[in-house]
Amino acid sequence: MKDAAWTARHRFFLDAPLRVGDACCLDPLAHQLVAVLRLALQDTVVLVNGDGFEYCAILTTLTVRQASGQITAMRPVHTDPRIHLTLYQCTLKQDKFEWVLQKGTELGVSRFAPVVSRRSVVRPAAALRTKYARWRAILREATEQCGRTRPPMLDEASEWSELSLPPGAHGFIAWEAAEDAPSLGDAAAAVMTAAGAQPPPPLALLVGPEGGLTHDEVNHLAAHGWQVVTLGPRILRAETAALASIAVLMERCE
Ligand code: SAH
Repeated sequence: MKDAAWTARHRFFLDAPLRVGDACCLDPLAHQLVAVLRLALQDTVVLVNGDGFEYCAILTTLTVRQASGQITAMRPVHTDPRIHLTLYQCTLKQDKFEWVLQKGTELGVSRFAPVVSRRSVVRPAAALRTKYARWRAILREATEQCGRTRPPMLDEASEWSELSLPPGAHGFIAWEAAEDAPSLGDAAAAVMTAAGAQPPPPLALLVGPEGGLTHDEVNHLAAHGWQVVTLGPRILRAETAALASIAVLMERCE
């Protein structure tokens, strides 16, 4: 396969089986291919479906409503995160929350769990349902842009008091008022040391809303197995804290 085809600028996540030699229906992408990207017949695109491979496809039919391709090659990709990190992000003002979704996907978050906490701006959890289609589109677009093969999962929003750590997971709470708490980096290093030659456990990270986390919230979650950590002496905006923490965890643990 000429490398030129693999440098095709356009990558798309397709929730369908892909196999070299097969034709593939690209109807969901037709409008974007024609009207937005102005691609033409015989152009190549790269398709991913989450199976850890990327597929090269040549466009064989192309209208604004219908499109199909012929899959000509495949190759393994190593861009998907090798550790499982769930970000429990307390809801933020829309543009900040969506920024965390996009950048968190690029950095390697596997699952986003929106949380409504005492000081969340947006309440209740049910009010967030109208955002899900938009949020999923942001996750899919960020997945395609950064070269991952599968988008992160997106949970329904939950109240902070309902949170429970997934079985076997190690949970960190980033708390701006933490005293005598380890840094996130040191706490992550300790998790890796405990894991030894084994892969680390699934990781969970909770970051508060613009208004911060209350003592009651932190004490309740700490009593349910979450480890309180500090991100240092400065008070970071929630979106800064989220992305800095993800970067630390991916660097230390992945
Ligand atoms: N409005 C609050 C700060 C909220 S910061 C105040 O001015 O005190 C939003 C969230 O980012 C916090 O709830 C926490 O989860 C995280 N965060 C910010 N700075 C942090 C720090 N130095 N250590 C740990 N977590 C931090």
